[in-house]
Amino acid sequence: MEHLLARLEEIYPEMIELRRYFHQYPELSFEEVQTPTTIAEYLRKLGVEVNTEVGGRGVVGLIRGEKPGKTVAIRADFDALPIQDEKDVPYKSKVPGVMHACGHDAHTTILLAIAKVLSENKHNIPGNVVLIHQFAEEIAPGGAKPMIEDGCLDGVDAIFGTHVWSMIPIGEIGYRSGPIMAAADMFEIEIIGKGGHGAVPHETIDPVAIGTSLVQQLQQIVSRRIDPLKPAVLTVATFHAGTAFNVIPETAKISGTVRTLEESVQEQIISQMEKVIKSVCDGADATYTFRYGKGYPALSNHQDETELLVQNAIPLIGIENVKEIAPIMGGEDFAYYLQKVPGTFFFTGAGSVDSGAVYPHHHSKFDIDEKSMLISAKILLSTALDYLEKGTP
Ligand code: MN
Repeated sequence: MEHLLARLEEIYPEMIELRRYFHQYPELSFEEVQTPTTIAEYLRKLGVEVNTEVGGRGVVGLIRGEKPGKTVAIRADFDALPIQDEKDVPYKSKVPGVMHACGHDAHTTILLAIAKVLSENKHNIPGNVVLIHQFAEEIAPGGAKPMIEDGCLDGVDAIFGTHVWSMIPIGEIGYRSGPIMAAADMFEIEIIGKGGHGAVPHETIDPVAIGTSLVQQLQQIVSRRIDPLKPAVLTVATFHAGTAFNVIPETAKISGTVRTLEESVQEQIISQMEKVIKSVCDGADATYTFRYGKGYPALSNHQDETELLVQNAIPLIGIENVKEIAPIMGGEDFAYYLQKVPGTFFFTGAGSVDSGAVYPHHHSKFDIDEKSMLISAKILLSTALDYLEKGTP
């Protein structure tokens, strides 16, 4: 193991170069062409068996160890975001309006570096390593689901993945057994009333008055109906109605997001929303449409694989830097892999003032401390090989 980790250190300058290349040529979700091509070429040069167009635009590499054993997968996503890069660095995005503002360029690089080191050491690997390079994480329905349907997890016994995270200081990782990221859903409600003159409200059905009342009622679902020990968010983010100060409009449109960590809570919120919308609108003689769109499910880590990760991370970064974190209410389609096979997803600290990595994810000045790539590559490599050698604790 030691010499594999040393080899990662040796190729760290190449990792930086590779990451900066991806950073300069970002591609949007479901529009990735050059990125998967570059990944496939890199893997083929290493002698890795490669499948392209997996589930659409995914690339899956397979490294067969020369000793028999289990199969472990590591996943990295590779899509970027519709954000203008406003950093002042030589490697800033060359594509107007598109930017790697979430660190998926780093994830890709980490996995390619691991592929390189493993492909040089097949004789020492008891089992197989599947390299899942995933397209389109940022937009539901995402790339994970079609890649799984296309067989990327076939024969896989466990899966590991990480997200570099600028809000965690460099040198630390954040782990958690059980739910660590939320189900991220969206909803749209249209209230259909009856428009008319602002001076004659009794001859109208006022969707503004009904809508404001509805927003208040919706706020009581989480505060009054959901167990306070179960995390949930219901945010009304938009409310659009009317065009003139003295005209009662015909309709009002409301949209927002719901975040939950447990399916039962999610279902409870949906059914409660239906009741509240129906009762508020019925009571005011309005009609309505309600559309609830489920995003990615909650991401729930498995206990044994999380324990294995912690055991491997401790000697690499020190016990004081291996931190159990509270769940993050963002969404991640790594959740789908964990519904099929055991595994764990953790956050690798990538924030530091020196590197300018002080902005949150999806910010136009987002950057990472690149040392996070070396740290997470070591942890993922160590954990994956430990899994193949000994299994879970
Ligand atoms: Mn991301």
